[in-house]
Amino acid sequence: MTTLSDCRALDAQDPLRALRDQFIVPADVLYLDGNSLGVMPKAAPARIAEVVTREWGEGLIRSWNTASWFDLPQRLGDKVARVIGAAPGEVVCTDSTSVNLYKVLFAALSQQKDSGRKLVVSERSNFPTDLYIAESLCRERGFTLKLIEAHELQGPDSVLTDEVAVLMLTHVNYRTGAMHDMKAITAAAHAVGALTVWDLAHSAGAVPVALNDADADYAIGCGYKYLNGGPGAPAFAWVHTKHAGQFEQPLSGWWGHAAPFEFTPHYRPAPGVGRYLCGTQPIIALAGLECGLDTVLAAESFNGDQGAMSALRTKSLALTDLFIRLVEERCAGHGLSLVTPRDHAQRGSQVCLSRKNPEDPQGGSGAYAIVQALIARGVIGDYRAGDSQMPDILRFGFTPLYIGFEDVWNSVEHLVQVLETGEWKREEFNRKNAVT
Ligand SMILES: *Cc1c(COP(=O)(O)O)cnc(C)c1O
Repeated sequence: MTTLSDCRALDAQDPLRALRDQFIVPADVLYLDGNSLGVMPKAAPARIAEVVTREWGEGLIRSWNTASWFDLPQRLGDKVARVIGAAPGEVVCTDSTSVNLYKVLFAALSQQKDSGRKLVVSERSNFPTDLYIAESLCRERGFTLKLIEAHELQGPDSVLTDEVAVLMLTHVNYRTGAMHDMKAITAAAHAVGALTVWDLAHSAGAVPVALNDADADYAIGCGYKYLNGGPGAPAFAWVHTKHAGQFEQPLSGWWGHAAPFEFTPHYRPAPGVGRYLCGTQPIIALAGLECGLDTVLAAESFNGDQGAMSALRTKSLALTDLFIRLVEERCAGHGLSLVTPRDHAQRGSQVCLSRKNPEDPQGGSGAYAIVQALIARGVIGDYRAGDSQMPDILRFGFTPLYIGFEDVWNSVEHLVQVLETGEWKREEFNRKNAVT
């Protein structure tokens, strides 16, 4: 059996422990939801205040040049590139994940418009916004969206055929924490002539990503999850250099123009990924994102030339392994089962559990109420509703920058108490809130 002192010993040996000092983690909170909204970097309030009072307040319009506001999307894009296996000049930070997906999927479909291919393939369990964006683009552009289960990508009956125009996947599944083999799947897609669009919302800053090594075509990702950029932080877009100069993205605003300040009446796209910008960027929000990116890049100093993600990944797997082990050792008999893959190669940085209520096999899972009872104790994870094909999920994200091994112990201790006392059955925990 693993003990509290084992966990404390792991913290004492953890080379990344000091990285937590970059954050303001509220004292009474065990935060296992960095996969939904990362913790605030300590540097963010002062940096955002400086942008507001000095750069905006005093510099006014001059700050576009004097404070380098104008090239922020590219400059931050270069920082994102360092955690997703891309090169400088290949990434821009801009807009939301949903909007960026629209832009890159449109570009990929344009590339395939004369190919005779009609299918866009994605997973049924993909994050809904991805499916909604794909649904409307397919309708608009004359493609058909085909939703599959992950296992249908493999084997002799694989859905990857010469009818597929674009394979659009989220690298780490938001519900299950299962991670795809980006390189192998991209190669399989290319072998049938399909292009790939990867959503890195639960990957960037969470797991190592190697877009160029995988020869991926398009990727987008989120700034406010593991990159700690703040609520609604700008997202990012990456396009392989072999495609980047070829397509006009559909939101052809002036910020994606080759020479925006010539104010010409006709659109001429900027070379490369710069054309994936649309309009004037949210400078204050970008400043928050930069603080978040810097917290991740701080891990580079622990890795020599391996980039930020290799030591973070080692710790992330140790945290999720520990959580799985403690839940299995200490919560047995409460109907919980592991949804996230045990295999490290297939696991993101979160652990998801489902529950069959042993007292009432026909009844509700209790997952929502258990998560609410944990939140009331300061253990913040989240709940994702299931349906006839997918179970309700209790979801726990482990951001190695600020979560320690004793935190894992304490979280499981609270879960044990919530289950053993039946605390979660209280009425207050069974009322639904607007945001789960
Ligand atoms: C979090 C997430 C998003 C978020 O999209 P927004 O435009 O920021 O609301 C999109 N896709 C996936 C897969 C996500 O996990």
